[in-house]
Order: sequence, then structure tokens, then C-alpha cells
Amino acid sequence: MIATPSLRADRVSVDTGGRTILDDVTFEVVPGALLALVGPNGAGKSTLLGVLAGELAPSRGTVRLGERRLRELRHLERSRARAVLTQENAVSFPFSVRDVVEMGRAPWARLASLAEDEAAIDAAIDATDIRHLLTRTYPSLSGGERARVSLARVLVQDTPIVLLDEPTAALDLGHQEDVMRVARRLARAGRAVVVVLHDLSLAAAYADRIALLADGRLAAIGAPDAVLTPELIARVYRVDVDIVRHEGAPLVVPRRA
Ligand code: ADP
Ligand code: MG
Repeated sequence: MIATPSLRADRVSVDTGGRTILDDVTFEVVPGALLALVGPNGAGKSTLLGVLAGELAPSRGTVRLGERRLRELRHLERSRARAVLTQENAVSFPFSVRDVVEMGRAPWARLASLAEDEAAIDAAIDATDIRHLLTRTYPSLSGGERARVSLARVLVQDTPIVLLDEPTAALDLGHQEDVMRVARRLARAGRAVVVVLHDLSLAAAYADRIALLADGRLAAIGAPDAVLTPELIARVYRVDVDIVRHEGAPLVVPRRA
């Protein structure tokens, strides 16, 4: 892995179809920290991740990786700097699971040794609990199994910046926790990790910081306790909640009475 530079979005906006779907967003993805990106459906989370990945050009503002504009980096440089788990996880050809994971090593072709490739692949297979699936074809997997294989393909890319769009969406409770532990371990190892989540309690339990997007704008960013207030959640999600403390982290519980 190359050293982790900071990734900074500065006053980023995205206009599409006559609408501003990302509006003047400034924030920094910091090495060594796990940032949870939350917000209602359509808030602009995936759009922001696309901009941070350099796959989507902002209409205004800039994204910088260290000192350089992200869009000026060559394709291969970008591939070695950041890995992205998209929401679609689309692989339509009947590749085996092992092939799909190994494809993630492509940016390191001729640069890493075979032993390094094997070590990265092995570690990713264990971290995502997919060893029993290796000989299956990708299209034959369940949604949750696909999500874990796609995450393994992201992990083997061994990049300093890791961007995960709803990696827990299709997963059962145990695998959700596994994925968040993996994300936290990546951050503790010095990577900059952004995870898009809907479960605010899960975000609070694992993230160092939470960024809350609402209508394309950054409504709040900070420590979980600072961001997850009943007032802000009511305003952004239109749901009344209680905040309960559990094992030192806030749990967000909707009022149902
Ligand atoms: P989120 O990931 O937070 O659910 P998205 O970033 O996917 O939200 O989308 C933000 C908003 O922008 C949504 O209203 C979505 O319909 C709209 N949008 C996203 N991409 C396009 C596009 N290519 N053309 C038009 N509207 C888009
Ligand atoms: Mg999305």
C-alpha cells in the first residue's frame, strides 16, 4: 500500500438534469479514521462517493488527493489510490468467485509479487467469510454473498483510501458486524475509510465521525454524539427518535407510541 494522502472535497457541487444534487460540500477524508456517511434516500451520498472516487466530475469545486487534483491523476494512479464498492456490484458474466476477487489485483499487475498477490487475496477471503464460495459462479450467489465477494475485491486492491457504498445493505446481522469490524480495522491500520450506511446506530458504534447529508448539503459532520441528536434527526429524517446509550455509543430508537 502507498502512504495515505488526505482526500479533500472543497465546495463541491453537482448539477444533473437541471437540479443541484450536491450543493457546496466541503469535507476531508482523514487517514486513520472511519467516516460514516449517512442521510435519507436521494440525499446525494452515492453522488458524493462518486465525486470522491474521481468517477464523477463536480460541476463546481475541486477534489484533491494530497496536493493534486483527483481528476488530473492517471487512471492507474487513481486505481492504486482508492478502491470503491458501488451499490450495484454488477458482474454479469459467470466468473467464479475466486476470479472476481483476483480481478481486484489488476492495478498491481507487474508491481506486486505473486506472494503479495496471494497474501492479499487470502486475507480478503477470510475477512469477508467467502472461502466456501470460491468455486461458485458470481451470478449464482445471493445478494448478501455477492456483497461480501464485492467487498473482498475492494480489499485486495490494498488502497490507502477505501470508499464503501452501503456495504451492509444486503447483509444479515452477523455479517453486518463483520463488515464494520473490517472497515474499522482498515482505518486503524492507517487507511482513510468512508462507509455509506443507513443504520445510524451501526454508524455510531463503529465510526470515528459521521457526516449527515440532507438534500445534497452537509447538514452536520462530527463525532457520533454531536451529530446524532433527536432535533437534527427529526429535521432531516422526519422521524421522532430517542437516543439511548449502549456500551458507550448512542443507539437511535424511533418513537413508535
Ligand atoms: P443517495 O445515494 O443518497 O440515495 P444519490 O446520490 O444516488 O442519493 O442521488 C441523489 C439525487 O440525485 C437523487 O434524487 C437521484 O435521483 C438524483 N440523481 C442521481 N444521479 C442522477 C442522474 N444521473 N440524473 C438525474 N438525477 C440523478
Ligand atoms: Mg446511494
